[in-house]
Amino acid sequence: MVDVHCHLNFHSFEKDYDEVIKRAFNKGIKKIINVGTKIDSSQKAVELAEKYKNLYAIIGVHPHHADKLEKDWIAKLEKLCKNSKVVGIGECGMDFYRYKSNGIIDVKLQKDVFVKQIELSLKLKLPLQIHNRHAGKEILDILSHYKSDLLNPPGMFHCMSGNLDFLKRVLGLGFYIGFDGNITYKGIAPGEDTLLSDLIKATPFTRIVTETDSPFLAPVPFRGRRNTPSYVIIVGQFIAKIKGISFEKLEEQTSLNADRIFNFKS
Ligand SMILES: [Zn+2]
Ligand SMILES: [Zn+2]
Repeated sequence: MVDVHCHLNFHSFEKDYDEVIKRAFNKGIKKIINVGTKIDSSQKAVELAEKYKNLYAIIGVHPHHADKLEKDWIAKLEKLCKNSKVVGIGECGMDFYRYKSNGIIDVKLQKDVFVKQIELSLKLKLPLQIHNRHAGKEILDILSHYKSDLLNPPGMFHCMSGNLDFLKRVLGLGFYIGFDGNITYKGIAPGEDTLLSDLIKATPFTRIVTETDSPFLAPVPFRGRRNTPSYVIIVGQFIAKIKGISFEKLEEQTSLNADRIFNFKS
C-alpha cells in the first residue's frame, strides 16, 4: 500500500516519527508521502524525506494559512522543490468550512495562494495535491481556466468529498482521487450530501489512491485516536470490499495509480 498523504511533520509525531515510519514500512507500506501545509512544515517534510528511503514530500501552503504568509513564500517554496524527494505541490486548494479555531480565511487570499501554487506546479511540472472542503465549485472554476496547461495526469484531489457531479468533473479534468479513513465513518459528514462509499463506487478503480491524512481521520476502530500511515491498510481493505475485489488487487492497482501521478525517482 501507499499512503499518498500524511503529516508526520506535525507536532503529534515529534517524539516517535522514527518508530511510526519504521512500523509502517515493516507492515508492508511501500511508500509514504509526507505533506506540508506552510513553509516551515514543508521544509520539515523535505528533511524527513531525505532521511528515509521510500518517504517522499509534497510541499505547499494549505488554504488555512493563506492569511499568514511570510514574504517571498512562493520563492522559498520553489527553492525547496529542487529537492529530488519532492514529488508534488500541495496541499493547496480552498476551504470554506467554518472551523471553530480559525473560521473561514478571506476567499480572495485563498484564491491567490492557490493560483500561485498552480502556476508553480505547471512551471516545475510537478503534480498538484488539492485540498477541498465545501469549495468544489470555486476550485473547478480556477482549474478550468488552466485546463489546456494541466499536466497529464494533473495530480489528485486528496480526501475526496462532494457530490457525484463534482466527482465526474474532477475525473474529467484527469485528476486521481484520494480516500482516507473517514470512509469507514457511518453517515454523511456535516454540510455534505453524498456518502463517501457512493463516491468510491463511482470512481474508476484505475483512478483511486489511498491515504491517511495522519494524525487526523483515523479509521474505525481507531476513530478519535492518532492516525498513522500503517492504517492505510484499513482504508485499502474498506475500498476493496466496496469495489468487490481482493485486497491484493486493490493494493496492486492503487500503487500503480500513485506511480502514474508521482515521479518517485529516488
Ligand atoms: Zn487537506
Ligand atoms: Zn492533510
